[in-house]
Amino acid sequence: MHNKIADILQKSVLSKNDLIILLSANKDNAEIIFNKAAEIKTKYIGNYTYFRGLIELSNICTRNCLYCGIRSGNKNAERYMISDEEVFNSVKYALDRHWGSVVIQSGERSDTAFIDKVEHILRQITQMCEKKPGITLSLGEQKTDTFKRWFDAGATRYLLRIESSNPDIFKKIHPQDKLHNLERRIENLYTLQKLGYITGTGVMIGLPFQTIEDLANDLLFMQKLDIDMIGMGPYIEHEDTPLYQYRDLLLPIEERYFLSLKMIAVLRILMKDVNIASSTALQAINPDGREEGIRVGANVIMPNITPVRYHKSYNLYKGKPDIAPETDNYIKILEKQIALAGDKVGYGDKGDPKHFFRRTVER
Ligand code: SF4
Repeated sequence: MHNKIADILQKSVLSKNDLIILLSANKDNAEIIFNKAAEIKTKYIGNYTYFRGLIELSNICTRNCLYCGIRSGNKNAERYMISDEEVFNSVKYALDRHWGSVVIQSGERSDTAFIDKVEHILRQITQMCEKKPGITLSLGEQKTDTFKRWFDAGATRYLLRIESSNPDIFKKIHPQDKLHNLERRIENLYTLQKLGYITGTGVMIGLPFQTIEDLANDLLFMQKLDIDMIGMGPYIEHEDTPLYQYRDLLLPIEERYFLSLKMIAVLRILMKDVNIASSTALQAINPDGREEGIRVGANVIMPNITPVRYHKSYNLYKGKPDIAPETDNYIKILEKQIALAGDKVGYGDKGDPKHFFRRTVER
């Protein structure tokens, strides 16, 4: 198997079968994949990890995804919306520390009050900063006009995860209604690209019913869509969700973690110059998880800078780390761990994905 993997890693084009073999590697054989991913990262994007200050704007959501702790149907979730002032203070925290970017994430809403609020926040952030920061939005599906308004107000990146490219799995992890529709989600991704956003997506790894072939297809989906940035991580079950009933079908949590590291590494090999986030869900399983993600090919970490009192309420999955707050001391530890993984922190730089510029120039 070792030789077979070494042969695959020499190829310039990887087939679905190649991806399946790489994703099936055991611990000993995976090291060669991890090393190759690290080599490609150094060659194509350099050894920098970028911090994105993550602001969890609100856990109010109109959707009801069957895996999510803040789904609208979860009556146990205590709902919140943070004030504009709190958002600006968080942005200031990030920019004072020379992080080039912030991410604004929220449960999904498409009502006028929410759209206006986000637009106002974006315009204010742009005005308060001498040097325009990179602003990523992760606010779910929206109308083209809304995406455009937010783009014009200063957002440059948009992350819209599909969670699984397999329509059958998508159906099993979402309610069967018009609101939850994979095709429309994919159309939204194309719209974002057309509008000029740096566009991101992602999947969950280790879902019930999911096979290695599904994950290989997920990687090929991202390649086909020519996506610029990816946020993906292990599926971690939440007891207040309908999907929890299938917990006996899940791989042990350590295997989901290992599979997630392999997904990061194989994606780096497949799509050399994209941005890949090392997710908080990795850290939920292993305290060094985010740094391990960096070692095997990721180049983005999103420290949570939401005001501490809201942390517990943005409870997407069981055991979501409550490193509250991600203080200067914690960031120093993170810097050391990133250095151990072979990277420096890209301070003062937005860290836009090189892939985006290549994609938009080539089209
Ligand atoms: S995954 Fe997103 S859209 Fe779905 S319920 Fe959770 S916050 Fe809402």
